[in-house]
Amino acid sequence: NKIPTWRDESRSNDKEEGEHMPTGEGLSDKVSLYKGDITVLEVDAIVNAANSSLLGGGGVDGCIHKAAGPCLYDECHSLNGCDTGKAKITCGYDLPAKYVIHTVGPVARGHAGPTEISDLTSCYQNCLRLMKEHRLSTVAFPCISTGIYGFPNEPAAEIALKTVKSWIEENPDTITRVIFCVFLETDFAIYKKKMSAIFQDN
Ligand code: ADP
Repeated sequence: NKIPTWRDESRSNDKEEGEHMPTGEGLSDKVSLYKGDITVLEVDAIVNAANSSLLGGGGVDGCIHKAAGPCLYDECHSLNGCDTGKAKITCGYDLPAKYVIHTVGPVARGHAGPTEISDLTSCYQNCLRLMKEHRLSTVAFPCISTGIYGFPNEPAAEIALKTVKSWIEENPDTITRVIFCVFLETDFAIYKKKMSAIFQDN
């Protein structure tokens, strides 16, 4: 039987859609696509698309700080910021998620060059590395860098999916569930299409 990965309440909200890939013993059994607010997900860790100060901002970062409460700001304040492509972990405080992994995506302004691609890949890898170090098994990622930071949606989704796939293949015993939490219909459509191609079991 599957461990529930998000609250039943959120599933009853019409605006939010969840999608499991076909079940089986393969890779596809470890990934889900979820459309809605990342702050309601009951997972070991949600990932925050933070800025380098780690002191909060707009977009998903603002939502996470609002839902987690002021203690998150206090812990972030003690962390001395975070470089692009790196990640730092805090408690989840008032969130249903136990931890928040803050990562700083590249500022792409509509252009995904080699540096931006490499930095965005590092974000996903460093979050997954922290999951492993802290022995956490369920995680939800937002579409890092694709909002205010302007990373084009299609290549960002491709990087997210392929980086997670490689990690799961190389570290099969660490992570039991990765939820790709999209917020926009455009990302939902992109992920839906790419997930079935990339996570197809042979
Ligand atoms: P960045 O600065 O890294 O671009 P943003 O927060 O601006 O980060 O956007 C990243 C993605 O997070 C966008 O797809 C945005 O629509 C989405 N987003 C915004 N609020 C939420 C939320 N509450 N839950 C999940 N995703 C969200």
